[in-house]
Amino acid sequence: MSDETHIIIGTGHGGVQLAASLRELGFSGRIVLIGEEPDLPYQRPPLSKGYLTGAVTAEGLLLRGAKFYEDRDIELLLGEPATLIDRAAKEVELRSGRRLRYDHLTLALGVRNRPLPVPGGELDGVFSVRSIDDSNRLREHIEAAENIVIIGGGFIGLELAGGAAKLGKKVTVVELAPRVMARAVTPSLSAFFEMAHRRRGVEVLTGTEVERLTGESDHVTGVVLKEGRHLPADIVLFGIGVVVNSELAEAAGLAVEDGIVVDELLQTSDPFISAIGDCANHPNVYAGSRIRLESVQNAVDQARCVAARLTGHPTPYADVPWFWSDQADLKLQMVGLPVGAERNILRGDREAESFSIFVFKAGRLIAVESVNRPADHMAVRTLMKLGIEVSEEEIDDPSFDLKAFAQAKRKAAVA
Ligand SMILES: Cc1cc2nc3c(=O)[nH]c(=O)nc-3n(C[C@H](O)[C@H](O)[C@H](O)COP(=O)(O)OP(=O)(O)OC[C@H]3O[C@@H](n4cnc5c(N)ncnc54)[C@H](O)[C@@H]3O)c2cc1C
Repeated sequence: MSDETHIIIGTGHGGVQLAASLRELGFSGRIVLIGEEPDLPYQRPPLSKGYLTGAVTAEGLLLRGAKFYEDRDIELLLGEPATLIDRAAKEVELRSGRRLRYDHLTLALGVRNRPLPVPGGELDGVFSVRSIDDSNRLREHIEAAENIVIIGGGFIGLELAGGAAKLGKKVTVVELAPRVMARAVTPSLSAFFEMAHRRRGVEVLTGTEVERLTGESDHVTGVVLKEGRHLPADIVLFGIGVVVNSELAEAAGLAVEDGIVVDELLQTSDPFISAIGDCANHPNVYAGSRIRLESVQNAVDQARCVAARLTGHPTPYADVPWFWSDQADLKLQMVGLPVGAERNILRGDREAESFSIFVFKAGRLIAVESVNRPADHMAVRTLMKLGIEVSEEEIDDPSFDLKAFAQAKRKAAVA
């Protein structure tokens, strides 16, 4: 039995996975999970998807039931924001003033939504979604709303648009960039989703700036665009980027630059402190640079990587990045990172809304974006994980059976 204490701050996907993986790998010391949110740890992705439309229940959101933590002797301190890290004493201080000593500390602090920087942003009826509370508030108001304006055409904005349109609302998406999801996907995929949402009755305005929100008796009534148009709105939702929760790390003197800076082992500038998930700025082999990724895959795999190091098996973080986003009845799945894309090859049928865009750079497959084509996504995830190349010629050839190719390679690898 180890007498070491591992403290984890943050009870999201990363923090919970780390606690679980430490136990799985045999760590027998004390594990304390500290979270500022009062709820049992839950999943965020359904908040803008199934939970909003009612397809997922509150119970279905939970990452694990209460018994999971009890059975593994994982101490949960919920509703307890950590306010200070005392690196000299190796202690964490909570808002209540209580101090806890650590042998190793992991920061899984996540991000928060960037506030809406326009006049009227503070009116009632203006929502963004990050927590279960946010989603509950929105659920209370969405029913009665007729006109909904969504500011920001990123993943979350478009998921909300898909859900609201499904509920029969009149939805307008306003995006400042020339195309939707511009930071994360190829122009070709952006163009497809703009068209697909329009087909479903959503008005999508790109290259369009919001000037201010209008209100009556403190409640939002609409959105005024820079070009002068007034969009009536009973509620306004926004998803315009995030701010990293890195203040705690910065105040403790750790290196911070667009997130908490970690090395390839996810160690911060203090060897007794690691950082994982949305808040960690890490060297990523697929990006070929430092990057911060906001995805469940990244948080979970980074947690596993830290657990392996702390139980004696240090391995640099090198997991294949993948992501999904459900928008209306469209399932987008992405693998790899389309950084520096040079050539796209399409497989499937765009018109039928079932296709994949294979992205190549210098003749190498670097990413695949699939819409309602899960088999392509899974095949490429397998191949990337095994480090097996697939050529432009093969992908370009309609008779090439990608799924069978990946299955054969996987079989050979495990034999
Ligand atoms: C609406 C929505 C939809 C999403 N959809 C998808 C999707 O479809 N696919 C996908 O891959 N990803 C999706 N994501 C992103 C995904 O949820 C995140 O990448 C993931 O949650 C990151 O996990 P994390 O552990 O790094 O951080 P988080 O899950 O954000 O957890 C961080 C936790 O730390 C807590 N915390 C911060 N500071 C302190 C402190 N000082 N003291 C105590 N606690 C603190 C926070 O309150 C929070 O609970 C979505 C996110 C949102 C908000």
